Amino acid sequence: MPAQASIPASRRIVVKLGTGVLTHGIGELNTDRIAALAAGIAALRRAGTEVIVVSSGAVGLGMGRLGLKKKPADVSRKQACAAIGQSLLMQTWQAAFAPQKATVAQVLLTHEDLRSRARHLGVKDCLEELLSYGVIPIINENDTVSAAEIKFGDNDTLSALVAGLVGAQHLVILSTAPGLIDLKGTGRILPVIEKITPEVEAMAGGTTDITATGGMISKITAAKIALRAGCGVFIASGAEPDILARLFSGDNPGTYFVPAGVPLESKKRWIAHYQRPAGSILINECAVPVLRDQGRSLLAVGVTGVRGRFVAGDIVNIIGPGDALIARGESTFDDTDVARIAGMPSERVKPLFPARKHLEVIHRDNLAVL
Ligand code: GLU
Repeated sequence: MPAQASIPASRRIVVKLGTGVLTHGIGELNTDRIAALAAGIAALRRAGTEVIVVSSGAVGLGMGRLGLKKKPADVSRKQACAAIGQSLLMQTWQAAFAPQKATVAQVLLTHEDLRSRARHLGVKDCLEELLSYGVIPIINENDTVSAAEIKFGDNDTLSALVAGLVGAQHLVILSTAPGLIDLKGTGRILPVIEKITPEVEAMAGGTTDITATGGMISKITAAKIALRAGCGVFIASGAEPDILARLFSGDNPGTYFVPAGVPLESKKRWIAHYQRPAGSILINECAVPVLRDQGRSLLAVGVTGVRGRFVAGDIVNIIGPGDALIARGESTFDDTDVARIAGMPSERVKPLFPARKHLEVIHRDNLAVL
């Protein structure tokens, strides 16, 4: 099984811990479990595996401290909860790692930090530096300053982006969900997923466990991001006491997702997952296989229209018939120019832009098929 063959060779991993794993009820820390997880992480570290933790829990802990029973709908109240909870979270991790003689570091990220190429590389350098000292970085989204429109959305996505950023071999997502349940067949956990097909996605959507419903879909989305970076993904139960030791001895009680054989190159990954698309370019049926299967550039002749506003150099979604998201890429033109040349063969586009060398609407080097 790939899980057994690959895990012991892991040099660097990202472990994502959900709020449900770290707490009992609202804002009540499960200190025994946190201590066990810290011991498991420290053991891996001692055995030579670099570990980065992505820890949720800030908002939940803040809610507990303020006596709130429901997740606030109000953004500023949520931000306040995160501000209170984040310090409690770090205090807890520090205490949990102290008996392990391990130093932890708090790293709070916003989407902007990974979106801008320069900041993206800065975050990577900082994480490398921390790891070189044997420190365990504990990452969370900086919820206190992240407004809705600039949020990662969930820590599953954040953990996958971090795994891609640092070139981790494995991402371990520990939550209350023990794995992906085979809803079409045995009703048991699927041990290995070779490819995330629409059928696999449907199984994630169909989970009956209330706590895992939205959760599993976002985990599958995150898994896709990590797999394309060549990073294998485990989804397993964080309630299992020795889960990390078990996984790393090749015993996988959850679901293992096999990574892409040939990872997407770094620039394309950045286009595909780290950017927020400014608008969309709509394409016709014939252009879909040209991009998806032949890896070619998008030409004006395949374009049927645009949605939203964007300027040359922005990242846009490429949408096929039936509103299917096909790819993402960096547009060569502003939205108005794309609309103007939509459907034109290249010989008609050329005289409109005599000074331009490249007339592809999106050059294949700047295009990532999703
Ligand atoms: N960043 C949020 C928190 O720490 C959690 C988001 C998530 O679990 O996906 O409370």
